[in-house]
Amino acid sequence: MSATTEYTVPTLRKKLQDSNDRQAVTPAMTEPYDGLIVGVDVGGTKVAAGLVDSNGEIKSQTRTAMVGNGNAAAGLAAVTSAIDLLLAGDRQARTLIRGIGICSPGPLDPSTGVVINPPNLPCWRDFPLAAEVAKIYRVPVKVENDANAAALAEACWGAGRGYRHIFYAGLGTGIGTGIVFDARIYNGRTGAAAEGGHMSVDYRGPICGCGKPGCIEILAAGPAIARRARATLASGKGPQSSILHLAKGDIDAVTSEMVGHAYAAGDELAKQTLQETVQLLSLWLSNIVDLLEPDVIIIGGGVAAMLNPFFGEISAWLSKYCINSRCQEIPLLKAHYGADAGIAGGAALCSESPSSQ
Ligand SMILES: [Zn+2]
Repeated sequence: MSATTEYTVPTLRKKLQDSNDRQAVTPAMTEPYDGLIVGVDVGGTKVAAGLVDSNGEIKSQTRTAMVGNGNAAAGLAAVTSAIDLLLAGDRQARTLIRGIGICSPGPLDPSTGVVINPPNLPCWRDFPLAAEVAKIYRVPVKVENDANAAALAEACWGAGRGYRHIFYAGLGTGIGTGIVFDARIYNGRTGAAAEGGHMSVDYRGPICGCGKPGCIEILAAGPAIARRARATLASGKGPQSSILHLAKGDIDAVTSEMVGHAYAAGDELAKQTLQETVQLLSLWLSNIVDLLEPDVIIIGGGVAAMLNPFFGEISAWLSKYCINSRCQEIPLLKAHYGADAGIAGGAALCSESPSSQ
């Protein structure tokens, strides 16, 4: 989504000026303008920044390239240029912002805002990201990993509203998870908690990028779906599968998106591939339910839409696997935020709602 025209910062400033000129400002008119937060999503190759209001609505957003392999200053400059672009060089706009929340690849320390040593951001080693950004914009700045922040955004403004204990799973090229207990992110002792994607469901399974065998991430994230489909096709099954058609006959070119498209078109092999993934995810979620017994499970990330038709099946597997006899009462919901989860998550870190205190 590109920046919206009806609610850009200059428009906000004009509305605020108009209001001040009349010297009769109703709280209802000023409230959305007083609560603006900048949410920033830093990835290995891009930075996305958005203006988010107090209801969690993303009013405008922008993207710039991330310079992850240069020095620390170049990485910081990429972040500030995204923020500056968002604020469109409007100095008064800065006065409307009451916080900046940043999602960054970890490991990081959310209590100090120091980014420790993310493998895909070699520019930052023990880099005090929150302090450096706060120095420039003179507002409170918070830093978190993206899945924890996305979980908080769902708790504040999304599918988790009204629930006390939330488990969030972002399924994409990896599996990132976040836990929100009593409206606060559960960080553990040093901020390293809630790495649910690296819980193993098979000690003899393939070795995950983290070094452990059989993590749910290596078995059920997007690349695993593609890998499973490729292996089945390579064994000679499904020569007529529309997955093969979508890949123009090249098994090595099969992606998880193709599996999703083929499933939507009624392809049997795609259905079987996704069902295996669903069974693995169900076993994993049953562990989560038996460990945490959350009030709600929220599934987000790029693969979530593909798995949406299987939510009923996951619930059925959960009742089979869980020791918890009331696990059927725990709703399994699709996340409210999609590709913008990082921006909303960053903003949620600075939200003044009781949910983030
Ligand atoms: Zn792992």
